[in-house]
Amino acid sequence: MHCPFCSAQDTKVIDSRLVAEGHQIRRRRECNACHERFTTFELAELVLPRVIKRDGSREPFNEDKLRAGMLRALEKRPVSTEQIEQCIVKIKSALRGTGEREVASELVGSLIMDALKELDKVAYVRFASVYRSFEDIREFGEEIAKLGD
Ligand SMILES: [Zn+2]
Repeated sequence: MHCPFCSAQDTKVIDSRLVAEGHQIRRRRECNACHERFTTFELAELVLPRVIKRDGSREPFNEDKLRAGMLRALEKRPVSTEQIEQCIVKIKSALRGTGEREVASELVGSLIMDALKELDKVAYVRFASVYRSFEDIREFGEEIAKLGD
């Protein structure tokens, strides 16, 4: 990269080390023209896809919203914070794994439902009933019956 002091194109790395528990590389550089030193950080781009809502509008993925939705479904259920956080990590990596820059909100919803199904059946039904807003009570009953097996 160009020297931030004199804009010369010729800079060299004089030191390079892992920081942030190996998630970043910190480099000390020196400009070959003016000999000023500066630091750069390199980290993997872990941007999550934006979410396409049902009305077609887009919004940035919001982890707080995801967590709030899961906590609401898991209220007073015997599930630890640690388990919830693990689920959130799993959902985020599944979203990154799509390699897409935008994903439908339905995908996010179904990832949450899959996670809850494993975690706690009651929370799953709670979440699904709100999220899918079941067409009628029979559909809701079928969903609960499926959990029986
Ligand atoms: Zn320079």
